[in-house]
Amino acid sequence: MAENDHEPQAIRAEALESLLIEKGLLTADAIDDVIVRYSERVGPMNGASVVARAWSDPEFRSRLLEDGTSAIKEFSFEGGQVEKLVVVENTEKVHNAIVCTLCSCYPWAVLGLPPKWYKDPQYRSRIVSEPRTVLKEMGLDLPADVEIRIWDSSAEVRYMVLPRQPELSIGKSDEELAQLVTRNSMIGVESL
Ligand code: FE
Repeated sequence: MAENDHEPQAIRAEALESLLIEKGLLTADAIDDVIVRYSERVGPMNGASVVARAWSDPEFRSRLLEDGTSAIKEFSFEGGQVEKLVVVENTEKVHNAIVCTLCSCYPWAVLGLPPKWYKDPQYRSRIVSEPRTVLKEMGLDLPADVEIRIWDSSAEVRYMVLPRQPELSIGKSDEELAQLVTRNSMIGVESL
C-alpha cells in the first residue's frame, strides 16, 4: 500500500520524523514543504481544473469518463497515485462518493492530500453500510429517489467524482468554473 494510516504506521512515521530531525538529517521545514506541495499546489485545484474542463468541453468530458487515466495526462500534473484513475459522474438520479475501506487510497495528483475524516475508520465503514445517513450527517441530504453509489479505492484503482455543474455557472470561463469546485464535491460528500 502506498500510503497507509493505520495507527501503528502513523506512530512509526512520527517517531522516524523526530529521529531524523534530531540527527540533523531532515528539517521540519522540509517536511512542511512536502505537505504544502500536496495540499496547495498538487492539491485539489488540479481536480477542480479537470472538472471545469469537463463541464465546458463535452468531448473532454466523454474522454474523461471513458478513460480518466489518459484524459488527465493532458494536464501534466505532478504527484502520483493516479496510475489508474476512474472518474464517476453525478447526475440528477445518481450520486457517487469515494472511500478506501481498507486504508486511505486517494487520487493525490488530482485531489492533493486526503482529509483526516477520509482515513477515519468510521467514515470508511459507515459510508458503505449507511451512505445516505453519513452523507446527511456531512451536510448532504439527497432526495430519496437519488441512487447512491460508493466506489472503494485500492492501490490499483483510484476514483474521483465529477460533480454536477451548478446551473448558474453555465457559460463561465474554465478559471471561474474551477473556483466553484470543492475538494469534498470531488470526493462526493458535497454538492455544488
Ligand atoms: Fe487504501
